[in-house]
Amino acid sequence: RQEQFRALRLVEPITKDGKRINLQMNAGLLVDLPQLAESGASGIGLFRTELQFMIASTMPKLEEQESFYRNVLKQAGGRPVTFRTLDIGGDKVVPYFRAQEEENPALGWRAIRLSLDRPGLLRTQLRALLRASAGAELKMMLPMVTEVSEIHAVRDLMQKEVQHLSKFGHSLPRKLQFGAMLEVPALMWQLDELMAEVDFVSVGSNDLFQFAMAADRGNARVADRFDTLGKPFLRILRDIARAGERNNTSVTLCGEMAGKPLSAMALIGIGFRSVSMAATSIGPVKAMLLGLNVEQLASELNAALDDGRSSIPIRDLLMKFAEAN
Ligand code: PEP
Ligand code: MG
Repeated sequence: RQEQFRALRLVEPITKDGKRINLQMNAGLLVDLPQLAESGASGIGLFRTELQFMIASTMPKLEEQESFYRNVLKQAGGRPVTFRTLDIGGDKVVPYFRAQEEENPALGWRAIRLSLDRPGLLRTQLRALLRASAGAELKMMLPMVTEVSEIHAVRDLMQKEVQHLSKFGHSLPRKLQFGAMLEVPALMWQLDELMAEVDFVSVGSNDLFQFAMAADRGNARVADRFDTLGKPFLRILRDIARAGERNNTSVTLCGEMAGKPLSAMALIGIGFRSVSMAATSIGPVKAMLLGLNVEQLASELNAALDDGRSSIPIRDLLMKFAEAN
C-alpha cells in the first residue's frame, strides 16, 4: 500500500466530480523538507517555527533564524511555505524561556500573547522572515489569535520592520500573505471581521477542538471522549468554511484530523478545499478523494448536520458513505 500511495504523488488531487483539493503538508525542521517531493504535497501549509527554538539550547539569534528560513524556502523549491510565528507555551516547552508556572498553560501566556508581550522576540522573528523571503513570497500566520486587534498589533510591528529594512537598503518580499490560525472559539463570533483583516485563515483543529469541548488534548482520559466528527464540531467547522466562501477568504485546516481519510472526507463534504497534514497522510487522503463525489456527500452530510432530531452518529453516516464509494 505504501507503494500504491507513493505512485499517487504525481496524480492531481481532483475529486471524481472535478473539485480540486489543495493538499499540503505540515513541517517544522529541515529534515521534513525532502518529504515535500516524496509526498507530492503542493506546499507546506503549516511550518511550526517553534521547533527550531525547542531543539536549541539557547534562543536562536536573528542570523540563525534567517538562515534557517532561507534554507527551508530554498529546499521547498518554489512551493509555498506558510510560516507560523512562534507558538511557545501550552504543550510546547522551550526550556531556556522561563515562563512563570501556570495552572492552566493551555489557556495561559502562550503563542501570540507571549509574542505581543515580548515584541523584541516577535520583531526579530518578523525581520528574519522578511529577510529570508527577499524577492519571494512570504506567507505567515499567527497562532492562538483571540481578538482581531492582535492582528492589527502584529501588522504594526511588521510595518516597522518593513520600514527598517527598506531604510537600510534590504530588498523585501515580492508579496506578503498574512493569515491567522483559528483555534480559539471566541473567533467564531468575529469571523467576518477576522476575514476582512487577513489573506487566509487556517483552522488549528487540535486546539479548537480542545477548547470547544473543554477537553485537554494531552489528557488521554478526556482527549478521545468526544468525537471530532460529531455534530457540534462539524457544525463549527462548517460555519468557518461558509464564512470563508462569503468573504472570499481562503480557508485551510492544519490539525491532525486533516490527515485521517474519513475526517478529510468530512471536511471536504462541509466545504473545505484545502488541508494540511503530516506528509505520510497525503497519499491515503489523496486515494480517498480521487473516488469522492463531493456533491453527493455534501448533500447527505449537510442534511444530517441540519437535522437536530436525528441521533444517528455522523461518523456512521460517513463510514457508510465511504464504504459505498
Ligand atoms: C492545531 O492546534 O491544530 C495546530 C495545527 O497547531 P499545534 O498542533 O501546533 O498546536
Ligand atoms: Mg495549535
